[in-house]
Parts: sequence; structure tokens; C-alpha cells
Amino acid sequence: MKFAEFSLDARLNSAVETMGYTTPTPIQEQAIPLVLAGRDVLGLAQTGTGKTAAFALPILHRLTSGPLRKVRVLVVAPTRELAEQINQTFTDLGKNLKARSTPIYGGVSKRPQLAALRSGAEIVVACPGRLLDHIGEGDIDLSHVEVLVLDEADRMCDMGFLPDIRRILKHLPSQRQTLFFSATMPDDIRTLSSEILNNPATVQIGMIAPAETVSHAIYPIPEKLKNKLLLEMLKQTSTGRVLVFTRTKRRARNLALLLVNEGYNASALQGNMAQNRRQESIDGFRTGKYDIMVATDIASRGIDVTEISHVINFDITDTVDAYTHRIGRTGRAAQTGDAFTFVTDEDEGMVRDIEKVLGEPLERRRLPNFDYGDFVPERQTGIAHQNRPAPGGSRGGGHTQQASSPRPPRTGGGRQSNWNNPRPQRSPGTRRAG
Ligand code: AMP
Repeated sequence: MKFAEFSLDARLNSAVETMGYTTPTPIQEQAIPLVLAGRDVLGLAQTGTGKTAAFALPILHRLTSGPLRKVRVLVVAPTRELAEQINQTFTDLGKNLKARSTPIYGGVSKRPQLAALRSGAEIVVACPGRLLDHIGEGDIDLSHVEVLVLDEADRMCDMGFLPDIRRILKHLPSQRQTLFFSATMPDDIRTLSSEILNNPATVQIGMIAPAETVSHAIYPIPEKLKNKLLLEMLKQTSTGRVLVFTRTKRRARNLALLLVNEGYNASALQGNMAQNRRQESIDGFRTGKYDIMVATDIASRGIDVTEISHVINFDITDTVDAYTHRIGRTGRAAQTGDAFTFVTDEDEGMVRDIEKVLGEPLERRRLPNFDYGDFVPERQTGIAHQNRPAPGGSRGGGHTQQASSPRPPRTGGGRQSNWNNPRPQRSPGTRRAG
């Protein structure tokens, strides 16, 4: 299929070409005609599927006619980074049109936002809190909104924004088109969607399970050896851009410092940093100034950096959803990527939950030539218990060997596990010469 087949305004097709998109992604194929036809849409899709352009293109097409200088489109998103990214997509795709998009989020001065609103932006991409501030102060008139987009609704719910969203809804005309995107469908999100969508068409792309282009592996390790393991892994592995996730802001900061001290071009991205520092970090990562970014979950939401070759979960996530979102950072737009997760004994339950969603076991690996000391990765208690092979064979019930078994096990999906036979090592790629 070609973009031209959607019968979008020619100026949009030309912008799509400039962006280098040749064929629509599956969600674009499904959603663009529905949105053009004015339908409400429930999109079950994660970041990395091309969903932003899937709603931005038909919305921009709508704005080629009708009044200007009124807020006709409201997009609500959970984080500043995501709001920036969506705003950028509208700006890039709409560059040949008159309609303008402006982002609204907290942590920065209100004044430029006010100026953009007064000058008459037609598209507002907002985080809930700051949008409510502007509404409260009478800075924004939402009575002309024709299209509402709620993006990453599940994440907004996780972050406690549900009451804010309900408050925002009260300021919107009830006659409107609503597009609702979420990677997962917990109960309160399902309830909200059924309340605000009118006879929606459902578009489901890669729901829950992470992109298939990503290969997953876990590295059993005690907490105290994680730093060393990461350094050795980076030394041994040929990587492009690497995104490392930690559980806390402090760990993100300290780990980035450690990497810089070791000679890597690394940067942190965490919630304690000022907005301009965060943006500098993201921009630097995108442009290649930084090879490695160490981030927390919230801060990393919506980072639109293609060509991330490796996601390394220095700390495992607290939820399967969060794992899916992290892994959505690599393998974007059908590129391939590796996702490595460091797991300690305590992470057993989470590993099991992730495997359930993936529908197959995660491959266990030992990093070759790494000094594990007394620790035997193959014996990590929780993991070894969990993977006890079925009697009489290693297929089916179990996917790694018992601690005492000398033979490399098979994964349940038929993949060869890599306990003793890691993939061939490639030359280091991340470290900067000099
Ligand atoms: P998203 O899921 O909207 O965050 O998009 C993920 C990435 O895919 C972004 O970097 C987009 O610029 C890119 N992208 C979106 N649509 C296409 C397309 N049709 N072809 C190639 N890349 C695309």
C-alpha cells in the first residue's frame, strides 16, 4: 500500500515523502481511513508502531479546510517528552499547511505557551496538569475542539492523571471525534474508553507483546556485580545507541556518571533534571552526541529515537507493561534490537510474568569471560527453580537446565538457550576512540 492511496491532501503526501516514510505501517493502514471517515477509534498500540502519524495525518487533512486560529484539535499525553514528540510530528507533517501545533506542559514558563495560544494554534498537544492550569486561568478556549486524542491512556492512568482527564473532558464539546490510544487495557481504562467513545472502531496492533523485532535475554547477576557486568557487556558487544534503564533517578544519575568516567559518551535522563537538561540529553542521544542514555521509566516515555540497538534493563521493571514500554524503545519501525535484562534472585516473579506475556521463555545468558566470583548464574535460585525441566526431557515444561545439568538447555519455543554458548562476540562499537 502507498500513502497516496489515502487521498490525503497533496501537501501532506509531500511531507510524508520528506520524512522518508515510503509505506504506511499496519496501524496507519488501518487507522487513517477510519479517522478520515470521522469515526471514533480505540487504538490498542504501543509506541514504535507509527501511531503518531496514524492520527496526525488524517487530523491535519481535516484542518486543510474550516476555520483557523481556533483550537480544533486537543491531544493529551502523559509526559513532556511525548508531548514534544507528538508536537514535532504535527509540525513536520504539517509544515506545508497553515495549521499550527503547540505543546503545553509543566516545568517550564507559561509565558511562551500563552503567547502561542493567543497567536491562534489550531492543535494543542498537552500534558494534563498544565492544561488544567491554563483552563483555570481562562487562557485557552476548548469550545471549538473537533478532535480529541488521548495518547498512552494507560500510562496517564498509571501516573494518576485519570481525575485530571475527566476534568478536562468537561471543557470539551460533546460533539467531537475521539481517538483513544493505549498499549494495554486495564479496567479503569476500558471504563473510560467506553464512556467517551461513540461507536468506536477498534484498531489493534501488537497489543501488549513487545515488538517482534526485538530479541530478549536475561542475565542472572547479584546486585553488587551489576555495574561490572554492564561495563564488561558494553566492552564485549558491538552496539549502536544503547538505552539503559534503572529503577530510580539516583541510580540513573550515578550510572551515567560511572559510564562517563569510564570514557563513554553517556547521559542521564531522569525526573530530577530540569527540562532543558532533559531535552539536551534526548537531543544529544538522537543526534549521536551520546551513545548511551541511562533513564528512568517515566523520563523515557515517548523518547523518539530510532536506531536504538540495545535496551539494557539494569534493573528489571515493576510491571510487565513497563517492560513492554521500555522494550518498545528498540526495534522501532521494524528495526531489530536486543533487550538485555539483569535479574537478581528477587526478580523471579517478574521474569515469570514477562514470559507469560511474551508467550515464551526468556533466554538465559552468562556473559563470557566475566568474573562472576562465587556466583553461578545457572544456579540463581528463583530462576533455576522456575526452569526445572520437565521429567524426561528439556522441552515443554522447562526452558533452562537444572543447576546440575551439564548440557545447554532448549527454550520452550525451540530456541537454543545460551547458557554456555553465547553468541559470537563482535568488536566493541560504543566506546569512543580517544
Ligand atoms: P511512533 O509509534 O508514532 O512513536 O513512531 C515510531 C517511529 O516510526 C517514529 O520515529 C516515526 O517517525 C517512524 N515512522 C512512523 N511512520 C512511519 C512509516 N510509515 N515509515 C517509516 N517510519 C515511520
